[in-house]
Amino acid sequence: MRVAGPRSRYDRCQMCRGAADQVDLRLCPKCRRAQCRDCWDHNNGECARCGTALPDLPLSLKDTVASVAAHR
Ligand SMILES: [Zn+2]
Ligand SMILES: [Zn+2]
Repeated sequence: MRVAGPRSRYDRCQMCRGAADQVDLRLCPKCRRAQCRDCWDHNNGECARCGTALPDLPLSLKDTVASVAAHR
C-alpha cells in the first residue's frame, strides 16, 4: 500500500473542480486548497493559488521541478 500525503474526500479541485471521488485530490500544505493530482502535475507541482510546491511529488515530477529551479 502506498501512502502519498493527505487526501481530501469532500473537497473539490480548485482548478478543474473535480470531486474527490473522481480525481486524486491533495491539499496544499500552505493554503490548504484542494488540488487534484493532474492539476499539481500540470502546474509543475505548484499550488495554483499560492505557488507552494507539493512536498510529496512523484520522482519524475520532482526531477522536473528541480531542473526548472536550477535553470533560474
Ligand atoms: Zn484538478
Ligand atoms: Zn496553496
